[in-house]
Amino acid sequence: MSRPHRLYARFRRSVRRIGRRTAPDLIDTSAAGAARFVRSLRGAGYCPFLLADDHTAAACPEVVDELSAPGSSWILPGTPRVVPAIETSRELSRRIEAAGTTPMLVVVGAGTLTDIAKHAALSADVPVIALPTAPSVDAYASARSALRIDGYHRTPSCRVPAAVLSCADVIEAAPDELILAGLGDLTAKLIARIDWEVSSIVTGEPFDRAQADWCAFCARSAVASLRHGTLRSAAIPALDALMVSGLSMQLIGASRPAASAEHTLAHLWEIAVPFDPSQTDLHGLLVTTAIRTVVERYRSICAALSTGKAPSGSAHDIAAAEAGWRDRVPVEMSPFTGKMEEESAGRSLGETEVTRRRDAIAVNRGRIVELCGALDDAERALDALDRAGIGAYEAQIPDVWVTRAIDWVRYLRNRYSLFDVEFEMGWTV
Ligand SMILES: [Zn+2]
Repeated sequence: MSRPHRLYARFRRSVRRIGRRTAPDLIDTSAAGAARFVRSLRGAGYCPFLLADDHTAAACPEVVDELSAPGSSWILPGTPRVVPAIETSRELSRRIEAAGTTPMLVVVGAGTLTDIAKHAALSADVPVIALPTAPSVDAYASARSALRIDGYHRTPSCRVPAAVLSCADVIEAAPDELILAGLGDLTAKLIARIDWEVSSIVTGEPFDRAQADWCAFCARSAVASLRHGTLRSAAIPALDALMVSGLSMQLIGASRPAASAEHTLAHLWEIAVPFDPSQTDLHGLLVTTAIRTVVERYRSICAALSTGKAPSGSAHDIAAAEAGWRDRVPVEMSPFTGKMEEESAGRSLGETEVTRRRDAIAVNRGRIVELCGALDDAERALDALDRAGIGAYEAQIPDVWVTRAIDWVRYLRNRYSLFDVEFEMGWTV
């Protein structure tokens, strides 16, 4: 018997304490099998409520035909692309509550619709079942929804799907850019693995080696399916790895195993850059573009560490630069000052702490350079994505926004990365 989701199955077994968290059942089926499954929900006394959009409904008509009925379904227009706005989640939750007794939400879609559905399901207090139409994000098993709230990307709590219906005939027929986006998002796990351990070394942040290794291993495995096969053949392995990543985030209680500086860059661009309609602002594609920038910069930081480059300026200068960041905010970044204030609130970097961190970096620079070996894997992944044609879908980020994102990444998210090492060593001041 083939086991298309062997990594998620193994990971789930390896997790000794799920506790009150939810590890979704991942059911391997087909579109026709999924239709039979949702029909059986009615037999079990549930009234399924369907969320889809025009595109995702067309990707799985079997399930949509089974469930679409006035008052118990909401099929959004697919063009322009649905935005992950909290207002849409609130409207969905209102519609579910109006729909009647014993509802259960069934979402047929990829990242945006799943995030909206998971959030609405928690508000309406109903179970949710996800039928992914693309292996594009790690939302399917995560306990957070990526939504736009008050003009910025945020991740409120949500209800984790009780089950994820993986229909190979649907997943493998997903648009190229969505499969590529998922593989790009997986490549970010390699960067996240570096930054998480570097943070534990320098700041003492708790680090879960097993979770970090699982996520990086699954990402490499999915990318290997692309390198040694085709984009279609990598679709199910990508979903498998994305499920591991989503569950890992749940277990850690944060996105640390899955996202680091590259995600912060991508989230800024998502909000700040006015995209040409011919370009796509899909999460995983923006993350891929950000990884290109991050890999290049991390290479130079790693080179400086490996040659034993001395810190520039005094610890006092660094602490003063940190304390005076508000005076340096350029006009383009002023809409994000509130977000940066919020992130800075939990952090202090005085002179003593800078000195302590510089010492920790000097003592452990060999290990940090060793960790940067994962940049080779990230570059191999980018090569495979390039050969599969990801460049045709990536947006052109204006230079000013590349520079702004790098300059302000430390303030936009309080998540330690090699950008912090660079700053604390005085190599940017
Ligand atoms: Zn992501």
